[in-house]
Amino acid sequence: YQAKRDRSGAEVYEATRDANTPDRLGLLGDLRRALDAGDVELHYQPKVRFDGQVVGLEALVRWVHPERGRVNPEEFIAMAETSGLMPKLTEYVLDTALAQIAKWRALGLNVPVAVNVSPRDVHSPGFAGAVAARLARHQVPPGSLQLEITEHVLLEDPQRAADTLNGLTGHGVKMSLDDFGTGYSSLVHLRRLPVSELKIDRSFVARLIVDAEDAEIVRCTIDLAHSLGLMVVAEGVEDDETWERLRDLRCDAVQGWLVAAAMPAQEATHWLQARGDRGWQRPAAALPAKR
Ligand code: C2E
Ligand code: MG
Ligand code: MG
Ligand code: MG
Repeated sequence: YQAKRDRSGAEVYEATRDANTPDRLGLLGDLRRALDAGDVELHYQPKVRFDGQVVGLEALVRWVHPERGRVNPEEFIAMAETSGLMPKLTEYVLDTALAQIAKWRALGLNVPVAVNVSPRDVHSPGFAGAVAARLARHQVPPGSLQLEITEHVLLEDPQRAADTLNGLTGHGVKMSLDDFGTGYSSLVHLRRLPVSELKIDRSFVARLIVDAEDAEIVRCTIDLAHSLGLMVVAEGVEDDETWERLRDLRCDAVQGWLVAAAMPAQEATHWLQARGDRGWQRPAAALPAKR
């Protein structure tokens, strides 16, 4: 099979494609133990405005299996979701991210951090209260935490999901709608959900320059989001041309390898400190030549 590779070219382990070791149960046990041992890491990817201002960092979970190497997050997240391990993973990610926010605040770096939460979390009663309790324990102001949800939270029990989301925003936590365009939500849903940010899925962003229909979807999504008072973030921005097009379409912020890939906490700290108040500036070579 064709091995999946990450940005650095390193091979990423994928259990479902690995015919030789279809031992998903074993992998699940290993993940549980890794969580107990603190062997799962978070990497952080910046979200920046077009003037360079860093508006936040997204926490992305990373797990390097002792024998199998790096495991694809989508793979083990799907596994955790269907096996009942999700609450444990989410607690771990929340605690790790909140501890990191507190460290950054102590260094004078007051940048909000976004944590991805699964539909399972949003449907669990008491989730909003549990998040509030964790914020208090880490002494982190609720405005420093953002939670990214996908449209899939609406599929199962929209009323329960709405209650949880209202509970969270009631505590002052900001909500972001991730991977927008890949699910089934109607505009009606979008208007009812208490989200303050919408993230355009990478699949549309990737084809923005080459596909007129995708460009139209992106344009409409940005306008729609703005008419609802939402901030729009484009994910997966890899090149200058896409950056420029998004800026022209009045997108608010971008995330992607053009700016930075997700970095380990210490590297993210240096990245933030090196940029300071000026934020991220595009390398001069990438700017159009002056006439
Ligand atoms: P997502 O939240 O939509 O995260 C964006 C994904 O795109 C990340 O993949 C990120 O590394 C990748 N990415 C960022 N910029 C670029 C780019 O310029 N080009 C390309 N090709 N890719 C880019 P990752 O880290 O593999 O995460 C995949 C998904 O797994 C995430 O999608 C999110 O849904 C989920 N996930 C990650 N961490 C967590 C977590 O802690 N909890 C939960 N429940 N889900 C998580
Ligand atoms: Mg996300
Ligand atoms: Mg996304
Ligand atoms: Mg995604």
